[in-house]
Amino acid sequence: MPSEFEIIARHFTRGTRHTVLGIGDDGALIAPTPGMELVISTDMLVEGTHFLADTDPEALGWKTLAVNVSDMAAMGAQPRWATLGAVLPAPTIDWLDAFARGFFDCANSYDIDLIGGDTTRGPRAFSVTILGEVAAGQALRRDGAQAGDSIWVSGRPGCAALGLAHLQGRTTLTEPALTACLDALHRPQPRVALGLALRGIASAAIDVSDGLLADLGHILDQSQVAARLCLPALPDAGLERDCLLAGGDDYELVFTAAARFDSDIAALAGKLKLPLTRIGNIASGPPGELILCDDSGTVITPATRGYDHFMSPTDREGTVSPDMSRPAKAGTVA
Ligand code: ADP
Ligand code: MG
Repeated sequence: MPSEFEIIARHFTRGTRHTVLGIGDDGALIAPTPGMELVISTDMLVEGTHFLADTDPEALGWKTLAVNVSDMAAMGAQPRWATLGAVLPAPTIDWLDAFARGFFDCANSYDIDLIGGDTTRGPRAFSVTILGEVAAGQALRRDGAQAGDSIWVSGRPGCAALGLAHLQGRTTLTEPALTACLDALHRPQPRVALGLALRGIASAAIDVSDGLLADLGHILDQSQVAARLCLPALPDAGLERDCLLAGGDDYELVFTAAARFDSDIAALAGKLKLPLTRIGNIASGPPGELILCDDSGTVITPATRGYDHFMSPTDREGTVSPDMSRPAKAGTVA
């Protein structure tokens, strides 16, 4: 088994592109660009909660960083630096090589420097702190939605949850959906370019980690507004609909923008080659209220809005697990 310092040197030390002093000292040094605000966010991945022991380490490495990059996207920030806290049981060099390959594949894709961290022995878990930059006052926040705004979502929400359901034997996907859903689950593509393009356009934004309705609910609560959603081509009741409304782990963006931007946003979809779907409007009803209709305008009450780690098991019945390979038994929902 490699030593702590061999692990750091071999697996986690790489060149940096925008860092004054990286890994190797007691602290890293960065020089934020003048006029920019720093955006800072932390996300943890814990074995047994967010991934299974036998999860492919390369996919896990990618996802460990990607879920953090997604928070930068949701803030409209350019991700720049990250630190990695790694708790490892008794890692083999092969496992670490694969994990680091996935992690740095993501870091390179989004031009992020790994500038430090901590490595310790214990039950496997990872914690990444990511730092990004956004021009002062331009960050996309959760509290700016206003009555009359359109509500948009990127990509195909629910895909990751469907991929997980397939792996757990709760559904059987066929190509091309199978590959698309497993990719969404294992290799989420944080929407950084979209977040950057939405500065000055979106009034509020959030990334979908816990479920479309749950995460939109955070915007409604923090903006003190209501919403009326009419999802085009909403699937009939069943797993597909539950995954779309309440499946987590997609890392798509849900955002609101004044209706005068509708055509700009539709054009942005073409430019970014990313589906952007208008799914409803912000309304001036009771803060947090979310009314959902199907294509014909009939009001629907969904079984759940999404996943909550501290929800009691009875409350959780019927919810769709957002987390990669959450250890739910086949045939049940976690
Ligand atoms: P210290 O004892 O001063 O806290 P460490 O010995 O823990 O420092 O770490 C040595 C260097 O390696 C530091 O620069 C630290 O940020 C970096 N480091 C440790 N673990 C990791 C990791 N998992 N990923 C990236 N850098 C790491
Ligand atoms: Mg020290």
